[in-house]
Amino acid sequence: MSHFRIGHGYDLHRLEPQAPVGQGRPLILAGVRLAHDRGPIAHSDGDALYHAVTDAILGALALPDIGQLFPDTDPRHESQDSEVFLRAAADRAAALGWHVENLDATVILERPKLSPHKDAMRANLARVLAISDDRVNVKGKTHERVDAVGEGRAVEVHAVVLLRRG
Ligand code: MG
Repeated sequence: MSHFRIGHGYDLHRLEPQAPVGQGRPLILAGVRLAHDRGPIAHSDGDALYHAVTDAILGALALPDIGQLFPDTDPRHESQDSEVFLRAAADRAAALGWHVENLDATVILERPKLSPHKDAMRANLARVLAISDDRVNVKGKTHERVDAVGEGRAVEVHAVVLLRRG
């Protein structure tokens, strides 16, 4: 019986101008609200970082993905705080005897800058997963102004998790 499982998660949300500013969905990543003139197009709150980590955990367990477990046709998930999805994935893992050993995520966002918010994102992820902050890493990259992500029209996230049995 193996003692480790690895999982990868990926998510992308289109970012549309908020007109007038202040209306529409705010840009939220790992539960942290970023001041921005664009917001995600999403059924839930559009938290691409929580979504990618949720899928990484589910993927490690070979379970159905976030879109299958929480369909965007379900009105209960309208504007849903995505912490609920991450917590559900972590609970499923725990119920099967697995816990997150560590997590590494890369957020690709042209603007605003991620660096002032990274520690708050790590702290939120660590809190929801009930692990210490030093097991959670969040990196920010731009897309060098190339393609839609580089033009600020989308946010993209990759996440890798290692699960440990017991
Ligand atoms: Mg998503």
